[in-house]
Amino acid sequence: MPKTNHKMPLINQAIALYGGTFDPIHYGHLRPVEALSGLIGLKEVIWLPNNIPPHRPQPEASSEQRLEMVRLALRPFASFKVDTRELEKPTPSYTIETLRDFRQEIGDKQPLAFIIGQDSLLSINTWHQWESLLDVCHLLVCARPGYQTHFETPQMQTWLEQHQTYQQEDIHCLPAGKILLADTPLYNISATDIRARHKVGIDCHDLLPNRVEDYIRQQKLYQ
Ligand code: ATP
Repeated sequence: MPKTNHKMPLINQAIALYGGTFDPIHYGHLRPVEALSGLIGLKEVIWLPNNIPPHRPQPEASSEQRLEMVRLALRPFASFKVDTRELEKPTPSYTIETLRDFRQEIGDKQPLAFIIGQDSLLSINTWHQWESLLDVCHLLVCARPGYQTHFETPQMQTWLEQHQTYQQEDIHCLPAGKILLADTPLYNISATDIRARHKVGIDCHDLLPNRVEDYIRQQKLYQ
């Protein structure tokens, strides 16, 4: 069981969602989220592989392969689940819509968080209806090497400071509305780099779980 740092009894332990392309899933996803989950004491983390809009660069692995890699990687973690609702929809979903779906299912009071990396935070104002995100969830931000910790524009920095909390308890005591920049371990790993390494035959066993690396080889992905 991961150790938690709670100083107060929890009213309602937060559930977190983690969206991504996961082409492939790697330790830069797994290790920070594992650390975050222990640090904050998350009830569960629901991993949401994305459906990519047709006009964007398509993942190299199919939806089924990306899903299988996520399933293989999450096998050792009892509190990590996969949700396929975005993959199953015929059209790509906006994060805000998926979050609203979850919110409807769990009710107004249950604390809900969305996990992102620091790079995603810095471009969050490009997301559809981004200003409504905090009405529905908290944002838990994992550190990522190579990305600055401040926004370029004063407007976005002010938005961050207005919503930022340093109290982990807020994530469990409030249903939504806070941003927590978590002190998670840094992993300089990206799926882009893993795909590039595979193309030139470099072993990636130190960058992602063995069973995912074995699956990539068996399926002849990223060649
Ligand atoms: P790609 O290189 O194909 O763009 P990626 O490695 O960035 O992929 P995604 O599936 O696009 O992975 O990312 C899903 C989420 O994981 C995003 O919120 C992203 O910020 C976060 N993330 C990815 N890699 C890291 C990392 N090394 N450290 C912290 N967060 C990460």
